[in-house]
Amino acid sequence: MTNQRLGNSDGGNSPEQPLLSGVFAHAPQELSVATGPRGRDAIHTTCARLASGEYAQELIPCLCGSSGERCIAAVDRYGIPHRTVMCTRCGLLRTNPRMTSDAYAHFYQHLYRAIYERPGHDPDTYFAMQEITGRLRAIRTLRRVKLRAGSSVAEIGCGAGWNLIPYSNRGCRVVGWDVDDGYLALGRARGLDLRHGLLTAACSSGERFDLVVLSHVLEHLLDPIADLNALKLLLSANGLLSIEVPSAFATARMERYFQNAHTWSFVPETLRAVMEHAGFECIAMNGVIESIWRPRSTVAPAIPANPALVKRTASILAARQKRRWLLDREMGLRQRFWRVRDAIMVWPRVSMGSI
Ligand SMILES: [Zn+2]
Repeated sequence: MTNQRLGNSDGGNSPEQPLLSGVFAHAPQELSVATGPRGRDAIHTTCARLASGEYAQELIPCLCGSSGERCIAAVDRYGIPHRTVMCTRCGLLRTNPRMTSDAYAHFYQHLYRAIYERPGHDPDTYFAMQEITGRLRAIRTLRRVKLRAGSSVAEIGCGAGWNLIPYSNRGCRVVGWDVDDGYLALGRARGLDLRHGLLTAACSSGERFDLVVLSHVLEHLLDPIADLNALKLLLSANGLLSIEVPSAFATARMERYFQNAHTWSFVPETLRAVMEHAGFECIAMNGVIESIWRPRSTVAPAIPANPALVKRTASILAARQKRRWLLDREMGLRQRFWRVRDAIMVWPRVSMGSI
């Protein structure tokens, strides 16, 4: 993608509406985060395929139906051309244009993991680190969701299944789905029931679960409303859905946030609007964003306009442009405050009926 194309497709982006910060106007392939030689090769290959059109891209409207947008970043944290825009009607952030489904499928199969892996990546060490994170996630979820031995838990996009281990240790039946054969083998070697595939494979299994976990998955989906509707088939009668997504403005270093694999970026208000549109009711949500949902029987409303959020996001962007480093530190403190608050706060416990 060239600057010329950005200018032409920007829907009126003017010098008065600059990017979030200078870091998001860097020349392609300037990194904001560290990666290894294999990662750099994968980044260069991704950039080349985008430039040649081998990775085709498509323009998409917001989930609210609007095409009004304001560009806030032109490249991602790896320097890959990646245009992040804010919907000027509802405030939802999305990637526009984004790669097509075929391009993403190829990218995930051949390049995605290489970009993430650091030099000296060791699968067992990585698993151990992720397992610790998974235990902390489960502790927070179990403050809000009552599960007992014999309850069932599924995770879509489970990697090697590290998030499922705490539930398995409590006597729950756990099943994970992912498409990364390396990760699947790693988890199966630890005795986990991990299966190849994602949502389609999970829904076609015919099984139902008391808790379904989507951890850092929703922001990657091309059609989240359709997928969330399909996901209801996976839930038992009183089943709940746990969703964790990164909160776009809760990160201390914004330049580390945007990445080309994300098709949507959320703040709590926009996640709530999207989930309600998909027919889910919020039970609990914190600032970082970890959340619990249950399906609603009523007809889902359209995503409403949210001029207050659009205005607030615009002022966050304007303030960050002026005082980026100061605000990054302030956001870091705020994020730490949220984590301490969430660690000590007693969340309402949710009864799951028969289980
Ligand atoms: Zn919108």
